[in-house]
Amino acid sequence: MVLGETVSLTEQQRLVRDSIREVCAEFDAGYWREKDASGSYPHEFVDRLADHGWFGALIPEEYGGAGMTTREVVVMMEEIAASGGGFSAAQAVHGAIYNSVPLVTYGSEELKSELLPAVARGETSIQAFGLTEPNAGSDSTSIETSAVRDGDEYVVNGQKIWISRVDASDYLVLVARTTPKSEVDSRTDGMTMFLVDLDEAFDRGTLEVEAIDKTASNVVHSYEMWFEDLRLPEEAVIGEVGDGFSQMLDGLNEERLVIAAECIGLGQAAIDAGVEYASEREVFGQPIGANQAIQHPLAEAYARVQAAKAMVYTTANEVVDETNAKSVGARANMSKFLAADAAFDAADAAVQTHGGFGVAREYDVERYFREARLTRLVPITQQLVLNYVGENVLDLPRSY
Ligand SMILES: Cc1cc2nc3c(=O)[nH]c(=O)nc-3n(C[C@H](O)[C@H](O)[C@H](O)COP(=O)(O)OP(=O)(O)OC[C@H]3O[C@@H](n4cnc5c(N)ncnc54)[C@H](O)[C@@H]3O)c2cc1C
Repeated sequence: MVLGETVSLTEQQRLVRDSIREVCAEFDAGYWREKDASGSYPHEFVDRLADHGWFGALIPEEYGGAGMTTREVVVMMEEIAASGGGFSAAQAVHGAIYNSVPLVTYGSEELKSELLPAVARGETSIQAFGLTEPNAGSDSTSIETSAVRDGDEYVVNGQKIWISRVDASDYLVLVARTTPKSEVDSRTDGMTMFLVDLDEAFDRGTLEVEAIDKTASNVVHSYEMWFEDLRLPEEAVIGEVGDGFSQMLDGLNEERLVIAAECIGLGQAAIDAGVEYASEREVFGQPIGANQAIQHPLAEAYARVQAAKAMVYTTANEVVDETNAKSVGARANMSKFLAADAAFDAADAAVQTHGGFGVAREYDVERYFREARLTRLVPITQQLVLNYVGENVLDLPRSY
């Protein structure tokens, strides 16, 4: 254990860490730098994990998966980010693991036995999740994409935005309104999750996409999507018609915890880079790390990353106990908030430590900084996390 580490791993977690470390060792900083500069999806890295069965991490053994839990996946994702791949590397595979969760929990037996073994073998992927729309980001119950029943099919029309990894996925988990918001008692009712075969949707000309020109994470691309009379068989429904929102939320807390673990790995990568440079670079005849103005921000970032890590891991150890769901939800949200800010502080300190080289691609810290900034926006903004804590933990009134 590294001095100051707040977490000691279980035997199973150590096994995960060591296996992931072995895979990541094949993809050095140069690999990620090149992918980032060319804006290319890291297919080699993702395929390597898929071939080793990691897409099936959360898939039960009866469907060919590894039968792990979020307790192990936090280790996996932290390790990937800390290896130098950063948030982008973790995000490149994140969807492949978490988007199968709604299927595992709510999918029909037919869908599960058809798809989950193939996902676990790395032969197919459910990398994309489509919720956000131009008029519904934080306010996700305001989505307008509709799925209207027609015989034994649903006809989907609408628009999504910011949907990641569409270019790297075989399937999309789509959230659409099966009843308009104006016709339901509770704003969270009337939404349904569907599994969309992307190739089929493209082939039939019922789906168009356009990549969004953005910065932050260059290797994971996000898309605007337009659905026009996309016909889905009723077998494409995941879970209960009209109950998709609460079923989706079910998995989101654990996913948030894993995002927090990715932030911790990113923060650690930034601190490692900062410490290395601070030890080597000499100015005024001494290593710059001897100056407290350089040392303190790195030390403070380390303390913050470790504090967030303690919350992530203690919470992850409790996810299997379903009676704890509310407490896990609160701590998963707080973990994401603390970890994203800790990653940002760490990346900022690393950039400052590098002086002018802080913005040179060669030293990677500018990439970490871009990625760390993004973690304060996705998958939920820091303000919306605070709203959650204010309302659900502190029982303060909802203001919106
Ligand atoms: C790179 C990237 C990848 C993404 N990938 C996906 C994906 O794969 N699938 C998907 O469905 N979505 C995805 N998203 C969308 C993401 O989840 C949303 O961007 C995010 O939820 C915020 O929504 P918004 O951008 O519409 O911001 P808005 O909701 O427009 O909010 C704008 C600002 O106002 C603040 N704000 C709004 N209301 C309140 C309030 N009541 N109190 C306090 N502050 C408030 C917000 O915190 C934010 O700072 C992605 C986004 C990005 C940038």
